[in-house]
Amino acid sequence: MNATVILGMLCVHLICFCVMFLLISIRLNDRKMGTDVFAAGHLLLGLAYFLQLLGGAPGWGAMSVVNHTLTFCAPVVYLLGAVRFFDRPIPVWGPLLTVAGVYTLAQVLVQAALGTEARHALLAASCAVLFLGMTVALLYGIRTFARDLRVEMILFAVLIGGICVLNAAKFVMILSGGLQALDMNSRFQMAFYIYMSFLGTVLPPAAVWLVLNRLVDQLRVLAVKDPLTGLLNRRGLTEGLATHFRSRKAGPAHLLIVDIDHFKHINDTHGHQVGDVVLCRVADALKRTARQGDLACRLGGEEFVVVALNTDHGGAVRLAERMRETVASSQAPGGNPHEQVQCTVTIGVSAGFASAGALDEVLRQADAALYRGKTSGRNRVEWALAV
Ligand code: GH3
Ligand code: MG
Ligand code: MG
Repeated sequence: MNATVILGMLCVHLICFCVMFLLISIRLNDRKMGTDVFAAGHLLLGLAYFLQLLGGAPGWGAMSVVNHTLTFCAPVVYLLGAVRFFDRPIPVWGPLLTVAGVYTLAQVLVQAALGTEARHALLAASCAVLFLGMTVALLYGIRTFARDLRVEMILFAVLIGGICVLNAAKFVMILSGGLQALDMNSRFQMAFYIYMSFLGTVLPPAAVWLVLNRLVDQLRVLAVKDPLTGLLNRRGLTEGLATHFRSRKAGPAHLLIVDIDHFKHINDTHGHQVGDVVLCRVADALKRTARQGDLACRLGGEEFVVVALNTDHGGAVRLAERMRETVASSQAPGGNPHEQVQCTVTIGVSAGFASAGALDEVLRQADAALYRGKTSGRNRVEWALAV
């Protein structure tokens, strides 16, 4: 296999992955996780290698200058895409144009002052430094911003470290052996192209794997959370209970149903939006008052459930009482300036239970207690009669 075939295959790979990242980024709408930037990086690198195929032997000319600028800009774009993947909203196109302009100018100056060899050496050295920086950033990420992606970061660091070493070697070879070192069919260039092909095949699916992981994590969170209050939804509550009771050390739990009193009146008087703010304030109050590890959930409408884990009946009733007091002393901004809305809650407490399968039964018990609380005047805590 000669260099032309390897380079041709590499171009096809890069352009195909460019299209793949573009399609993924279109599907991701507003949270693209850098996939649109990765598409641009693949396009630039694909074009660079295409120009190299067309240009043939290394030399001085407009095509070679554009080729070098594209070759240097592509990893810069990957770097910016990676920053976006980690949720840092960094600008891409402005910095990219600046880098392209500065690098083109540097090429012209180096060519004029030191000649073609030096311009090629500049590319190898610049890429080596850039890839070294990326490798260091990836290794730093293992302990900081990418602790959840340890294996992936090590893999990326090793692969990108490899291309850093190859560029450094290329720089040394140009200095010692001149432009002959860049002959497309030399052993070194063949090894370089094969390694690039390997990276071009392995890195894009690895990046897609990272994006997929993030998406699945986000979907998992969305599936178990109530979008308005950020509390668990019923599915989250069921999963949380199952996880708790799987532990051999799990103690008994008590379930509290918390229902806002006369919430319809709040909606009717202040409007639905203020009603939503009140729901969020009550949710915050419940979260603040619950102990660490307790499960707080919005069951629907203005009804919440808190499951107090590893507690006895007295502890659950005291917790319910604290929650009732916290909500009663909280305020939410009303529709008009300086207007504050207050509300109270009635809470029904179930008997103790020790399995996730008992959820329906304890919900029924707590609901019956809640009903008694409502009929006895509201803003109070009632507990299941069986206890
Ligand atoms: P009670 O003291 O007996 O609990 O009376 P209540 O008015 O709180 O209960 P009711 O069941 O009569 O009314 C609940 C209201 O909650 C009716 C519904 O429009 C409102 N609601 C349900 N979901 C939401 C929501 O997401 N946002 C807002 N703002 N209101 C909601
Ligand atoms: Mg209510
Ligand atoms: Mg209700």
